[in-house]
Amino acid sequence: MRKRIIAGNWKMNTTLDEAKKLASEIVELVKNVDDVEIVICPPYTNLYVVYEIIKDSNVKLGAQDLHWEDKGAFTGKISADMLLSVGVKYVIIGHSEQRTYFCETDETVNKKVKQALKKGLKPIVCVGETLEQRENGETKEVVKKQVVGAFEGVSKEDILKSVIAYEPVWAIGTGKTATPEQAQEVHAFIRELLKELYDEEVAQSVRIQYGGSMKPNNAKALLEQPDIDGGLIGGASLKAKDFYGIIRPE
Ligand code: PEP
Repeated sequence: MRKRIIAGNWKMNTTLDEAKKLASEIVELVKNVDDVEIVICPPYTNLYVVYEIIKDSNVKLGAQDLHWEDKGAFTGKISADMLLSVGVKYVIIGHSEQRTYFCETDETVNKKVKQALKKGLKPIVCVGETLEQRENGETKEVVKKQVVGAFEGVSKEDILKSVIAYEPVWAIGTGKTATPEQAQEVHAFIRELLKELYDEEVAQSVRIQYGGSMKPNNAKALLEQPDIDGGLIGGASLKAKDFYGIIRPE
């Protein structure tokens, strides 16, 4: 049985006060939820203050990126140890915005995934095709290359601690959601790929989230699909009620 995991990616949003308010509202709304793993990923500046708010709750802390080196002259970057020291458990790696705007490649994703796992952070690895790639019929090829690249050299024991987020780039922040059938097809493909790369146990155990304009009004149909184990939520994670509406969709 894979436990559903809903993670909120706050991206470059929330000042200190806004983060405190949002985290407090989420903690209150989800306090009775025990069948869904809940993760929130504020920007770095708000990680510690949010940790202080959620530390005794059922909400876990995630970060939006990390650097693959332990420490040193990497101005502007954040290490795994820094994240661990403020209570972070999960880290998003390879988000399409990182790939598009900040030169993230399958190679850097792989280095970050290995560093996260070595240090005891759980990676949420994002993969997904652009609209052009989908229209050219390249979706599976692109997703396969990203999954293979991200987990190259990662042991079975370690991939079992990882989460994969299938996020079609054309659906992120656009209001266009993949249909449940479109998403399910790619999720099933990723599971099949995990079986090829590892084995049946890995294929059946690794959780695969969908991300891309998931909202309270479309979450249920997506989450009902057999291979969709949760969501990585951008815009709708910035309103506590909407985030809760995805955790408990009607
Ligand atoms: C995301 O950034 O991972 C995401 C899915 O964003 P949104 O929900 O806003 O499309």
